[in-house]
Amino acid sequence: MRTRAIWLALLTLTIAVEANAQEKKMRIYISADMEGVVGVVTGEQLGPQGFEYNRFREFMTQEVNAAIEAAYEAGATEIVVSDSHGNGQNLLIEKLPRNILLVRAWPRPLMMMQGIDETFAGAIFLGYHSGTTNPHGVRAHTMSSARLTDIRLKGVSMSEAGINAAIAGHFNVPVIMISGDDVVVKETTELLGDVEGAVVKWSTGFHSAKTVMPEVAYQLIREKVSKAVGRIRDFKPYKLATPIQLDVSFKNYRPSEVLSYLSSVERTDSHSIRFVGKDMIEVSKFLQFLTTYEPGLEP
Ligand SMILES: [Zn+2]
Repeated sequence: MRTRAIWLALLTLTIAVEANAQEKKMRIYISADMEGVVGVVTGEQLGPQGFEYNRFREFMTQEVNAAIEAAYEAGATEIVVSDSHGNGQNLLIEKLPRNILLVRAWPRPLMMMQGIDETFAGAIFLGYHSGTTNPHGVRAHTMSSARLTDIRLKGVSMSEAGINAAIAGHFNVPVIMISGDDVVVKETTELLGDVEGAVVKWSTGFHSAKTVMPEVAYQLIREKVSKAVGRIRDFKPYKLATPIQLDVSFKNYRPSEVLSYLSSVERTDSHSIRFVGKDMIEVSKFLQFLTTYEPGLEP
């Protein structure tokens, strides 16, 4: 009888300890873009051809580091970062801490959100920019400024933050914080509600801004991430009802013409197509296909 009582007590204790450990797990996902990084204003900072690119990879990495540090300090237990700009190989991995995992390069089915799943408690968007239909905002575009003029989900024009929030929402993960210029922060809080926003520069045009200095941006990002993780239960996932109608408008005629050969695609006007996905995963894969495929792909 006594042994049984001890056994029961032990069992209860084990369950309590496990429940506690479970509760204490907090996985945070960080999607890092570059247009919204401190000081970024033109292509000179955004890709290997630009004369300032290598220096700005440094600033991008430091912004991500500031967010990682603050998230761990505020109670995060695991962090996955996705390098989600340009070639997907911008972050300087030797300057990132050991206690994260990094998603790099393309293509990938969940695009800027690769690596997210239902085990995450919140998503952070760093270095983001406003959407392509916004007349303001530094480098305002959605997925491709050169090829696309609009992406709509269920009839609503979407920024990358909106599309990515809907992907996170598919997994019941809320967006908790965003950094970038004043325009993307405003646009995103209008769509998603009260997410924490770090404004590191004020847009004065597509290719100009008034910016704070790097150290100020890191500090600001630290503060906002800390606040967001501290009140993580306040945020609601951005969930779109399924199925999800996707409308894409191209700059040119031929993409919509050729895509309309597919029975799953409808051409809605000279420059636009429609695809209906059963959920955001299908929509994301379709978008990644649409922006990646060409018959000359190698290897
Ligand atoms: Zn980008």
